[in-house]
Amino acid sequence: MCVQASCAQFWMLSTPHGLFPVPLGMALTYDPAFLAPAATPAHRKSVPYAVVPPAPSGAQTGEAEDGGQAGSRTLWKGWVCTECGRANCRYRWERWECRACGNRLLDAGAVVPSLGLPRRLDVLGEADDCSPGVRMTVHRLASTPATVVAYTLPRAGTVYHVLHDTAAAADAIWEAYQRAAADVPAAPLFERRELKSNTVKGGLLSQQFAINSGASYKYIVETLSYTFAESPPSVMDALELIRERVASVLGARVDFNEILSVMYREGQKMNWHDDSEPGLGPVVAALSLGSPATMSFRPKAARKPNAKASGASSKEPSLRRPLPVLNFALSHGDVVIMSGRAIQHMYDHKVVPLGLRVAATARVIQG
Ligand SMILES: [Zn+2]
Ligand SMILES: [Zn+2]
Repeated sequence: MCVQASCAQFWMLSTPHGLFPVPLGMALTYDPAFLAPAATPAHRKSVPYAVVPPAPSGAQTGEAEDGGQAGSRTLWKGWVCTECGRANCRYRWERWECRACGNRLLDAGAVVPSLGLPRRLDVLGEADDCSPGVRMTVHRLASTPATVVAYTLPRAGTVYHVLHDTAAAADAIWEAYQRAAADVPAAPLFERRELKSNTVKGGLLSQQFAINSGASYKYIVETLSYTFAESPPSVMDALELIRERVASVLGARVDFNEILSVMYREGQKMNWHDDSEPGLGPVVAALSLGSPATMSFRPKAARKPNAKASGASSKEPSLRRPLPVLNFALSHGDVVIMSGRAIQHMYDHKVVPLGLRVAATARVIQG
């Protein structure tokens, strides 16, 4: 056996049949000098590669590796402070900021104009499908030219997908949202908040950048809350557009008193969740802006009431995740209305955007 790494016999037993690895548990006699503690050799003391990642591309110069896309994935990576060396998450939409020394790195992300956004070609996209249990009806809306696809989730309520003939109103709101987010105000508008997690020690940030306006909403993360008066105009324009669309689809005005605006950069998504919380009204409506996204619904997993008491394997039921019963493609300017409180109790939904996207979700919260 040899202890020189470059030797063919390194940690191998020499036998009449050739070299063999030392079997596990084989008793070996060690040279006491080999076992004595020794300092790390000088040439091994430093890590042979850079442990500090390069500064995020796209900052200041605006030249990201993907051509400076404002929603680019590299733009939500962290940053090692050039002043003090602290590693920082990307907390804020408009810049990197060091939590230790306050050093900043501006993001030169440009506003993505509405003109370049992909437009819907067909009313029903290829991603759209629903299980046989979900009844689908389509009708035209005369007041604001639009096609409404209504999906009835059994015993829960109806999901309306409102597809407008023109996205002119949405175009202006989309650009205004980006300008509001890129603005560098004294207090952050769009921020990634800490998740309420009991499985991770230390802070774990939500993927998306969010701002809550109106009545405070618990969500799964602590979101900054602003009054309607303090909120950027884009938020109020989105709320008004949602109110109008809901009134024309449901035939009755809903006085939403809360709106959550979430900005997604490339690669960010909203995983399975429901929108319920105490005091939530029966109608939840959301406006989609920017990149297309896929929205899906699936029944909540049935909980076995006495799984533990009967000694049954607790793993078994939770492993069988229900499959989605409804998927549809959201385009820029679309509005989704979830009508029926039971939807939030019986179903989870998720949204997977294809790139930079803003979703504004309005609710009624009774205090
Ligand atoms: Zn610093
Ligand atoms: Zn939701």
